[in-house]
Amino acid sequence: HHTIEVEDLYFTYPDGREALRGVNLTVPPGVKMTLVGPNGAGKSTLMLHLNGILRGEGRVRVAGMEMNEENLPRIRAAVGMVFQNPDDQLFSLTVFDDVAFGPLHMGLPEADVLLRVETALRAVGMSEYRNRVSHHLSMGEKKRIAIATVLSMHPEILVLDEPSAGLDPRARRMLINLLKGLDMTMLISSHDMPLVAELAEQTAIMDNGQVVACGPTAQLLADH
Ligand code: ADP
Ligand code: ADP
Repeated sequence: HHTIEVEDLYFTYPDGREALRGVNLTVPPGVKMTLVGPNGAGKSTLMLHLNGILRGEGRVRVAGMEMNEENLPRIRAAVGMVFQNPDDQLFSLTVFDDVAFGPLHMGLPEADVLLRVETALRAVGMSEYRNRVSHHLSMGEKKRIAIATVLSMHPEILVLDEPSAGLDPRARRMLINLLKGLDMTMLISSHDMPLVAELAEQTAIMDNGQVVACGPTAQLLADH
């Protein structure tokens, strides 16, 4: 069920900008797929449809659920969204509070929340940071905490918008290793071609509001 399926998806912003013009895309279960293409191609807009932040015309099915009002809460829980700017995602005082926020609002007992926070922080290699002030961290640290805030919700699918943007080489390397170690269905937008080549078994190319090619990364990079 851990699949992303998008069929004939159209979306126009309120100002009339046609950002998606019939997107078709399938990310099979357990596959890490990167989404590449020029600025303005529609990558961010597409990703915002995968947990219902934006709702266009067409079909979006994620984690076995049809995108609709009824399924929206379960879809939000199943699809972890990591925004390009971690400041959009970290709004508590401490790292602990940021990572605990999701599980707390799921109504989990305190012991379960604690366990989830510990496990998520360990997964991103940030256990020592639990009492630090989130907004004082470096960009690379913030990105890993942003990923932990999503992992603590136990999502089935991870969607990441340009995860390596703005990172220094060491932070970038840690992030790539972290994502490589997570065995989940992922859709990752990126302009970082070495990351794409290393991380993703499949790649989709977007241009002008459509997915214009999709397939094994090595083959696509060779052809384009
Ligand atoms: P990226 O190319 O890195 O995905 P953009 O530079 O296209 O991001 O956009 C950065 C932010 O500005 C996003 O939040 C996007 O929604 C917003 N944005 C982009 N284009 C427009 C526009 N024409 N009108 C209003 N907001 C826009
Ligand atoms: P990408 O992520 O590939 O850079 P985006 O999804 O950010 O592309 O943008 C797709 C198109 O939609 C672009 O033409 C962009 O300017 C426009 N756009 C993005 N966000 C907004 C917005 N909030 N309002 C109006 N137009 C937008």
